[in-house]
Amino acid sequence: MTAVAGGLDRVVLTGVSKTYDTASGTAVALSSTDLVIEPGEFVSIVGPSGCGKTTLLHLLGGFLEPSGGALRVGADPIAGPGPDRGVVFQAPTLYPWLSVRGNIEFGPKCRGVERKTRRTESDRLLRLVGLADSGDKRPYELSGGMQQRAQIARVLANDPRIILMDEPFGALDALTRERLQVELLRLWRESGKTIVFVTHSVAEAVFLSTRVLVMSARPGRVIVDRRIALPGDAPDRVRDLAVTATPEFQVVKAELAQAIYNA
Ligand code: ADP
Repeated sequence: MTAVAGGLDRVVLTGVSKTYDTASGTAVALSSTDLVIEPGEFVSIVGPSGCGKTTLLHLLGGFLEPSGGALRVGADPIAGPGPDRGVVFQAPTLYPWLSVRGNIEFGPKCRGVERKTRRTESDRLLRLVGLADSGDKRPYELSGGMQQRAQIARVLANDPRIILMDEPFGALDALTRERLQVELLRLWRESGKTIVFVTHSVAEAVFLSTRVLVMSARPGRVIVDRRIALPGDAPDRVRDLAVTATPEFQVVKAELAQAIYNA
C-alpha cells in the first residue's frame, strides 16, 4: 500500500528550470517551475511538441539534472533514477532474451528476492495486466499492446511509489489504446500509486487524469493546471469510456484544446 499520511510521497518542484546548450545558443526547455503533486494523483502533461513535456518527465525520473531549483519526493531530493520512480516509455524496453515472466522478475531478482516469492508475485502481476497465458513467451511474440502491458507489469514488480509514463500508448491502434487506458485506470485505483503521464492527446489526458497540466513552448512552462471532475467520479470507481460522450467531458476537452492552441 502507498503511504499517504504526512505527504510521504508528495512530489515537490521548487523553481525548477532546464536549459540546453545548442549550436545556436541556450534553449530554455523549462522555465522556473513550482509544482506539487500529491500522493495518489493521476497527473497528465499535455502541450505542443517541444514544450518541455519529456524534459519535465526526465527531470522527475532523475535522468536529467535541473539547471536551477530542486526536486524531491517526500523528504528525499531527486538525485538520479531510483526505485521509488518507475518509468514506462513509448517504445517497449523489454529485454528480448528474457520471457515476459523473466522481464517482470528481473528487478526483484536483482534485489535478491527469493525465487518462490518472485514467482508468486509475477503470477499476480501477469494476471493483473491480462497476460496470465503469456508468461513464457518472448517479447517478440507479443503484440504492441501486450508489450506495453508487460512493461507496466515489470515496473509494478519494483513497487515504485510513482509511475512516470512517456506517451506509453502513442504507438498503439485506437481500440488497444482505449482498452489499455481503462486497464491503467483500474491499476491506478487498485494500487493507489501516483502517476505522471505525458501524452499528445487531450482526450486521453482528460479521460485518465485527476489533474491536467498544459504546457506552452518557448520558454517551456505550465500555463494551465486544471483539476478534472467527471460525472460518476468516486474514489472507489474506475471511469468508463461512456464518460467521454458526456457534455462535461467535451467542455473540459475543448477548454484544454483551446489553451494548447493559444499556447
Ligand atoms: P516535448 O516532450 O514537449 O516535445 P522536449 O522536452 O523534448 O519537449 O523538448 C523541449 C525543448 O528542448 C525543445 O525545444 C527541444 O528542441 C529542446 N531539447 C530537448 N532535448 C534537448 C537536448 N538534448 N539538447 C538540446 N535541446 C533539447
